[in-house]
Amino acid sequence: MSDHQFLNYIGGEWVEGSGTDPIPDINPADTREVIGHATDSQAQDVDAAVAAAKEAFEDWRSMTPPSRGKIVQAAGRLYEQRAAEIGEVLTREEGKILAEAKGEVQKGANLVDFLSGEARRLNGETVPSEIPNTFAYTVRCPLGVVGLITPWNFPMAIPAWKIAPALVAGNTVVLKGAEQTPWTTQLVVQAFIDAGVPPGVLNIVQGRGATAGAALVDHPDVAAISFTGSTEIGRHIWARGASLGKPVQCELGGKNPIIVLDDADVALAVAATAKGAFGSTGQRCTATSRAIVDRRVHDQFVEELAKAAAQVIPGNGLDPRTTMGPSVDKEQFGKVQEYLEIGAAEGVEVICGGRRATDGALEYGLFTEPTLYTGVTRDMRVAREEIFGPVLSVLEVDGIEEALDVANDVEFGLTSSVYTADVNRVFRYIDKIETGMLHVNSPTIGGEAQLPFGGMKKTGVGPREMGKTAIEFYTEWKTVYIDYSGGFRGGNLY
Ligand code: ADP
Repeated sequence: MSDHQFLNYIGGEWVEGSGTDPIPDINPADTREVIGHATDSQAQDVDAAVAAAKEAFEDWRSMTPPSRGKIVQAAGRLYEQRAAEIGEVLTREEGKILAEAKGEVQKGANLVDFLSGEARRLNGETVPSEIPNTFAYTVRCPLGVVGLITPWNFPMAIPAWKIAPALVAGNTVVLKGAEQTPWTTQLVVQAFIDAGVPPGVLNIVQGRGATAGAALVDHPDVAAISFTGSTEIGRHIWARGASLGKPVQCELGGKNPIIVLDDADVALAVAATAKGAFGSTGQRCTATSRAIVDRRVHDQFVEELAKAAAQVIPGNGLDPRTTMGPSVDKEQFGKVQEYLEIGAAEGVEVICGGRRATDGALEYGLFTEPTLYTGVTRDMRVAREEIFGPVLSVLEVDGIEEALDVANDVEFGLTSSVYTADVNRVFRYIDKIETGMLHVNSPTIGGEAQLPFGGMKKTGVGPREMGKTAIEFYTEWKTVYIDYSGGFRGGNLY
């Protein structure tokens, strides 16, 4: 059994943090396996990383954007070449099955590839002035040192989709990855190092949220924070940012519905729901956690979905037969088990699952049986709160209007889906649904590099990530007026 050490990367050197309580990196499919330990960074380590990033900023921002883009693009190519290696590490640490892990690496590569191209499109506008002989235009400029705080559920793709636009725009970066996935964080950064990012431009601090994460948020030389993670911590960081006058971008919770109307192709809707609810163990931000089903197809839908749930094979994600991995760690697993108790206490009908899975080797991992609830009403906690496990609540409705009303009756608004063959209903859904991303006749999950990603309502704050909008958070606008008349005109009167 190996004991890898995951260090900080500060100013171009791998260094230990100054804390004395290293964080164990545990395989959630078999918690007897300790993969390694991440160094325990403290505020002084964050200080060192921010100082290195601050020092590197002037040279990095002075480089031409296309030159920065070339380095970022090279990192994307390395991800593609290293997909097998990174994917395997990701599966061991996070638990998702190998095919999903490799898919995530490919997605990270796509994102970096797309965002590197934005280096050639950091355009402003020329705008006609009211004043004669005046040239007016806008230009983007970087913010300085940005802090990135990322979660474990996409430990490769999420850091990649924050690092790439931050660097392309000319910022320097301090990344605090998740405690559960320090090896993947290290591999994400290693690709940028190998691609030629100069020392100090990209730094990692490994460590706990309450120490390293909080110190990064609070640091006076950190100009902005981009965060993806839990609603609880995100709101805390958002408030903290506001009190420090610091821009914060947060991508937080979801309670994503799939709406199945009476004219839906039920078999397709069932396949999409199973993939969205049980794929990645329900640990995607975009996972399907509510099926809102017309009463005319409800029983058929539930019967077929129960059959699909029975096909799911929980296990170690490195085994090619496995189709669903474990919860990422004991805390997350405990939360899922707690919601199973809440569901039972709320009086749902358990069609399948509802328990920990312990057959054979599963007893050493953090596995939950794929769980299907019916008889769920919109006021129940299992229908309102994000569970982040393989637990699906089915809510029965009568027609599209009630379906939309139930779908929108939660505080989150990340993603959604509708299954119907009726174009009028499709457009009604697109008009009324309160989610930042929506799908027609496809699962709630996924997101392509070139399209904006993010939610409405309490799912988050700040500009959308990914797509062309990704650059927004990482740049400021300068508006420039140049008087070329040679005389004094004094501007306009307001
Ligand atoms: P999850 O439930 O996905 O683990 P968290 O919101 O707890 O979500 O964690 C997401 C990221 O936020 C992790 O990198 C974690 O270390 C970090 N984090 C947790 N608490 C804080 C905090 N108080 N300040 C800054 N970062 C934090």
